[in-house]
Amino acid sequence: MSSCIFCKIIAKEIPGKIVYEDDTFIAFDDINPQAPVHVIIVPKEHIPTFNDLKESHKEMVGHLSLVVNKLAEIKKIQDPGFRVVINCNPAGGQMVYHLHVHLMGGRQMAWPPG
Ligand code: 5GP
Ligand code: ZN
Repeated sequence: MSSCIFCKIIAKEIPGKIVYEDDTFIAFDDINPQAPVHVIIVPKEHIPTFNDLKESHKEMVGHLSLVVNKLAEIKKIQDPGFRVVINCNPAGGQMVYHLHVHLMGGRQMAWPPG
């Protein structure tokens, strides 16, 4: 059994409020949402960080953009808009070491982020 929390959600060993799933990705509501809409999009392959992406992940990374768009549509935040975030390593604020994308919306975002 993997000790990775997101691998456990993928394997349905622990619950997650899943909003989308296909062969390559799973997406679920964040347990500690930072916006009215806060979805975590996770590749099913255990890739620790953004730094670990390889040439072989090219198709998956392209697919990811379309999954983000699909989720923005499902969550009805395409208009007025949304934010997509990937945290990488400690200085980027990464807490879970399984690559994931945050999709946030439903409120006005500030810039710069904290
Ligand atoms: P990071 O800082 O690694 O980019 O973000 C990890 C995110 O995963 C955080 O927003 C955190 O709230 C979320 N998270 C951590 N553990 C769980 C969990 O068990 N279930 C869900 N749904 N989200 C989680
Ligand atoms: Zn994992």
